[in-house]
Amino acid sequence: MAARRRYYDDFPHFSQPSVALLRRNAEESVAKAQKKGKVYDPVIPKGNSRTICVSWWGQSWCRNMERYADYASRLSRGKTYVRQGTVLDLKIQQGVVLAKVQGSRRTPYSVEIHIDPLPEDRQKALMEQCSKKITAMEDLIYGQFPEELKELFLERDGLFPAPKEIHMGCSCPDWAVMCKHVAAVMYGIGVRLDDNPFYFFSLRGIDADGFVTKALEDRVNTMLEHATSTTDRMIPDSDIASIFGIV
Ligand SMILES: [Zn+2]
Repeated sequence: MAARRRYYDDFPHFSQPSVALLRRNAEESVAKAQKKGKVYDPVIPKGNSRTICVSWWGQSWCRNMERYADYASRLSRGKTYVRQGTVLDLKIQQGVVLAKVQGSRRTPYSVEIHIDPLPEDRQKALMEQCSKKITAMEDLIYGQFPEELKELFLERDGLFPAPKEIHMGCSCPDWAVMCKHVAAVMYGIGVRLDDNPFYFFSLRGIDADGFVTKALEDRVNTMLEHATSTTDRMIPDSDIASIFGIV
């Protein structure tokens, strides 16, 4: 046991970097980026010691990741890491997440996560559900993510991505399936969803404006069809005359 401890003492890079070291490195990295004219958008979780995220969308994103056995053992390190403020920058674009994560090395690591676009049929299902529900439509029009669609997201074949739809990479030397930097970024995405659930559209490669316009059109068409069928059900004038005995 003693020999083993010595082995680790000789190779300090096997140990977890201290919070103080991470903080010092992070401050230096942010200052350096500012000098180069880069604007970092750091991830600051609003949750408490138990949860990273505070909103239904953010928490559901985290729960979705945690339910997969492939990720379970690796994610906990990311939770600690994101809380320590190591995700210096995280930007969500169409189907891509780009982030800078501070580690024991001075230069932050670059993390890139690609998420497959939502398949056509599932996108159509989402659209149909939206256009059927008035509250969901109102939410979308007023720039809110529809609460009514929660169930649709959580279904087995729901709209949150499965591991096979997520592709990750990190510039760190101990990159395996999921290093702690990528795990921290995965939680960082949840924090972004806390701020704005519409990021979900970008993550799944959906054009939000186009989606809202199309859902509105579908809603109007459904209303028009409904109006036409109501007209069909109206009683012709001649029938009304006979009902009231008017000759
Ligand atoms: Zn890494």
